[in-house]
Amino acid sequence: MIDKTVFENKIAAYYTLGCKLNFAETSTIGKVLSEQGVRKARPGEKADICVVNTCSVTELADKKCRQAIRRIGKQHPGAFIVVTGCYAQLKPEEVSRIEGVDLVLGAEQKLDILQYLDDLKKKEERGAVIASPTKDIRTFSPSCSADDRTRHFLKVQDGCDYFCSYCTIPFARGRSRNGTIASMVKQAEEVAAQGGKEIVLTGVNIGDFGKSTGETFIDLIRALDEVDGIVRYRISSIEPNLITDEAIDFVAHSKRFAPHFHIPLQSGSDDVLKLMRRRYDTALFRHKIEKIKEVMPDAFIGVDVIVGTRGETDAYFENARTFIESLDISQLHVFSYSERPGTQALKIDHIVDPKTKHARSQQLLDISDRKLHTFYEAHIGRKAEVLFEQTRKGGMMHGFTENYIKVEIPYNSSLVNETRQVTLGDWNEDKTALKIYDF
Ligand code: SF4
Repeated sequence: MIDKTVFENKIAAYYTLGCKLNFAETSTIGKVLSEQGVRKARPGEKADICVVNTCSVTELADKKCRQAIRRIGKQHPGAFIVVTGCYAQLKPEEVSRIEGVDLVLGAEQKLDILQYLDDLKKKEERGAVIASPTKDIRTFSPSCSADDRTRHFLKVQDGCDYFCSYCTIPFARGRSRNGTIASMVKQAEEVAAQGGKEIVLTGVNIGDFGKSTGETFIDLIRALDEVDGIVRYRISSIEPNLITDEAIDFVAHSKRFAPHFHIPLQSGSDDVLKLMRRRYDTALFRHKIEKIKEVMPDAFIGVDVIVGTRGETDAYFENARTFIESLDISQLHVFSYSERPGTQALKIDHIVDPKTKHARSQQLLDISDRKLHTFYEAHIGRKAEVLFEQTRKGGMMHGFTENYIKVEIPYNSSLVNETRQVTLGDWNEDKTALKIYDF
């Protein structure tokens, strides 16, 4: 039984580090607290409860979490600080020792936050409480973030069964699981009813959707495509071996799925892919890119790559670079390999020094810049449908085409969350977006 009086007149501040999945889950934690009457802190306002949803994808991510928690403690003196997310799941003791932390919630407990916020007593009075994280995480907690009026992040799947050699996510988020198609459709209908226009399907390994419900990813996207009111869906990162040709054909002919893909390659060398224990080779990856471009020539394709993994020799990197250069893709997201305790990658002998990692990263970023530039330039003068977003920066607003080209115009509040047919113009001043000729 929850004692509601504990939450009377309380104010909460929310902080999210890491991926879109975390953003969706923080938003659900916010909903749980607001149902108890807890109000969200306004900018600059002191909160009584601070919820920090952490990430642990790299050593640097852990460090950023520690810094953020300390900073939040100073910004909200006396607040009850709750830390959850991947870092809290993987290293609960370490997190509990950070100055100011009152409660550490594992991945399974984050949405049961109310039962742990029983008396809001500070650490000084009773010590930091660790709600012992469950190792075998199996619960699927539905989440959909609605922070922006335009774009919503719908969690369709959680966890991963792949155990790539460098990754700790399966330990932090547990086994692959998902909600039902019917529950996803319901959430999409709610987004549409609230006026939301764009939904990004998120998860850890979303192509694995259906494992726990006996359904399939293609049936999920078929069902979502029928939800009236949603203008666009985007599929966030999906493993190359799980994006089927059937799903690619479906997106090409669908009513609402945007020609926009985000596919992790991780390495363009087959030898390194084997060391990483990835489940495809470069031939399969190339086939997927060619298939997308065959049926959607203007599709935007973003690709994740990790440089400096253990075992990535000069020769392997050179193979990888040549392969990546040859792909018809739009942008690279380049990450530097980071050692993670408990991973199989630590057994590989060859270690890449930081200077070489940096140089490799730079080479791939240059390729990315060239590819992105070419992709944008090819669209100048062409017609496109833009959905304008809420954020205002320096008197300007932004929007995105279906194929993820960013456009910039002077701020006009009547265009927020609206779509318009436009002719794409030349680059803006800092070459980060295109201007618009007419609409
Ligand atoms: S597919 Fe591999 S890299 Fe992605 S979350 Fe699963 S184990 Fe980690």
